[in-house]
Amino acid sequence: MSELETYRQSARVFLDSMAPKYARPARSGNTVEQDLALGRQYMAARYDAGFAGINWSPEFGGQGLSNLHKIAFDAEEMQYGMPVGFFGISLGMPVPMMIHYGQDRDFVKERVTKALRGEEIWCQLFSEPSGGSDLAALRTKVEPDGNGWRMNGQKVWTSWAQYADYGVIVTRSDPTVAKHKGLTYFWVDMKAPGVEVRPIKLAGGDSHVNEVFFDNVRLEDEQRMGEVGGGFGLALHTLMIERYIATDSAGFGPHLDLFVKLAKETTLNGRPAIEDGRIRSAIARNHAMRAGLDSITRRAMLMMQAGMQPGPEGSLQKLVAVRSRQKLSELALDLQGTAALPFDEHAYVKEDWGTSWLNAPTGRIAGGSDEVLLNTIAEKVLGLPQDYRPDKGIPFNQIPA
Ligand SMILES: Cc1cc2nc3c(=O)[nH]c(=O)nc-3n(C[C@H](O)[C@H](O)[C@H](O)COP(=O)(O)OP(=O)(O)OC[C@H]3O[C@@H](n4cnc5c(N)ncnc54)[C@H](O)[C@@H]3O)c2cc1C
Repeated sequence: MSELETYRQSARVFLDSMAPKYARPARSGNTVEQDLALGRQYMAARYDAGFAGINWSPEFGGQGLSNLHKIAFDAEEMQYGMPVGFFGISLGMPVPMMIHYGQDRDFVKERVTKALRGEEIWCQLFSEPSGGSDLAALRTKVEPDGNGWRMNGQKVWTSWAQYADYGVIVTRSDPTVAKHKGLTYFWVDMKAPGVEVRPIKLAGGDSHVNEVFFDNVRLEDEQRMGEVGGGFGLALHTLMIERYIATDSAGFGPHLDLFVKLAKETTLNGRPAIEDGRIRSAIARNHAMRAGLDSITRRAMLMMQAGMQPGPEGSLQKLVAVRSRQKLSELALDLQGTAALPFDEHAYVKEDWGTSWLNAPTGRIAGGSDEVLLNTIAEKVLGLPQDYRPDKGIPFNQIPA
């Protein structure tokens, strides 16, 4: 048995031991606050068992293992539905960025341990009303203030900001140069005076995203990460850190077996739906698509095992998987007729078609919208010419708003 398979088995033993207290059935009916408290306990237990910071350096409380070990653990953990959602962004991007660029190394070490144990949460303050797909169009500004900075502006769609202790943020420090060049990256204390977080309610009823307002917030120069004007490079680095993550060809929605079960249990024109040609063809199409995505994932894993870098074809995963999850969820709701109408706010997205359908659109926007992923595929996979960029090289304050 390979070393990776042995590791995967030890992960399963740990997860099995945690499941009675923390897995999906144990969380059923929890409020968000109860779930967060449970999540913090699970993170501490995971840290103590040596399954935290799997691919991080031991200097920062990590295990010093490979990306493949991290992906293997995450893929196993995903099957259990542990309460880890609150910490995904925190440990995924902001905290690794602090490890790379935080100026005060003792402060960084302390923060990293607390974040790994779930005691502190970090958020990622990138998107704004004027800058989402085109991040470099952002307007939150910083101005020099003595030996530090003063920040004003607004971010939006910030996941878990209402529970966050700290965040990493991209700001505009110089509006007189081209839009990518005038950005600077900082960390910010989310409890500092002048920071206001307002939750946004999503269609599925949850409020994990927020608007965040900054009114004359003071930033010390030690909070700056990277060079003044180097913020866009750090933003790209942030987005590259989580390049190799556990994927899910079900688009983080229900498994295809659940659809087959539903098709056997429901009737269409007086016969079991599973006997209908259109339903059978939907199942076959989804099976083929998921098998194709799984093959891409397997190839990427093999490349990583061989010490190579997987290519940009990873951008196909989310685009194809979440789109087809949305379509399949819609078909499942149609099959159920009025029985699909009652909405259970505690239902699990991987087990409930209504929840899956309602949440799918956010999956098609967050982490790169469908159209932006199509552009990536066009430019990086197919080698087509670049998207039209009329504001390239123009000073930011001369671009018509
Ligand atoms: C659930 C959720 C969680 C999120 N969490 C965070 C977070 O924690 N931190 C954070 O910073 N952000 C977060 N976001 C924001 C997310 O990154 C942005 O929503 C995303 O980048 C799209 O930006 P936008 O909403 O401004 O849409 P826009 O960029 O304004 O896009 C609007 C539409 O235009 C299309 N479009 C844009 N550019 C092009 C182009 N060049 N060619 C063709 N079509 C184009 C888009 O596909 C979209 O359909 C989250 C979003 C969601 C939904």
